[in-house]
Amino acid sequence: MRTVSEALRRAIELSPVSDSPRLDVELLLSWVLGKERVWLYTWPETELSDAQQAEFDRALSRRRKGEPIAHIMGEREFWSLPLYVNASTLIPRPDSERLVELALALTESAPSGRALDLGTGTGALALAFASERPAWEVTALDASTAAIELARRNARRLGLERVRCLHSDWYSALPMDERFELVMSNPPYIADCDPHLNRGDVRFEPRSALVAERQGLADIEHIVNLSPRHLLPGGWLLIEHGWEQGSAVRELFTVRGFRAVRTEQDLNERDRVTLG
Ligand code: GLN
Repeated sequence: MRTVSEALRRAIELSPVSDSPRLDVELLLSWVLGKERVWLYTWPETELSDAQQAEFDRALSRRRKGEPIAHIMGEREFWSLPLYVNASTLIPRPDSERLVELALALTESAPSGRALDLGTGTGALALAFASERPAWEVTALDASTAAIELARRNARRLGLERVRCLHSDWYSALPMDERFELVMSNPPYIADCDPHLNRGDVRFEPRSALVAERQGLADIEHIVNLSPRHLLPGGWLLIEHGWEQGSAVRELFTVRGFRAVRTEQDLNERDRVTLG
């Protein structure tokens, strides 16, 4: 038998693969035990059952091989919503919560309307927005059928079945004249030669959710060019991008005729979302 505090000490085993070994072990152990993280420090002498011990060993050995915590646990919290996660989509990032904040700020005085999330993956942006704007009609599109299945599961889990999840390569499945007050997207925007792709969790995420041609700008350009015909007058387009892409993305918006174009920063005070 082993205790909670002994199990936590196994964080050391994760230091070769993780920047946050202690946090990782806390997350995995609290998941195995079905407790909040704070519980681990309230009851450090609790003994793990054989089954819990075996499950914790399995989780730790997957993490030692570099697998993301979110894949081992099968879920990740975004906007305080628990979302199922698997290898078919990007793992939602805290940086993308900035996009949700901006979308909410833009729609504060509009009790109802129509919003669209392009390339929804787990459904994170669409579901977070829908949870805060109950009277809005929200649509989520993704070119991956596995992603759309996952987004639907997440919608059901959160009681947000009203979010329409459709299989679509960007706008392709929508009627030409279908328009929205708000279109948001966290598209792939990493250049294929970026060394970031060879490190950490991204190695386990689908390339199709991460990498875009033309230095990572090809999909953003495609979305910017197609969006005007799907936006209502006065509607907004919000796109997440890399921290070095702000001026290039503003240029794409401006060339396509968008007004009030600006870039907002993420939690690390780096350019992250352009809107217009
Ligand atoms: N921000 C993510 C990363 O740097 C990438 C997200 C994306 O490509 N949409 O890992």
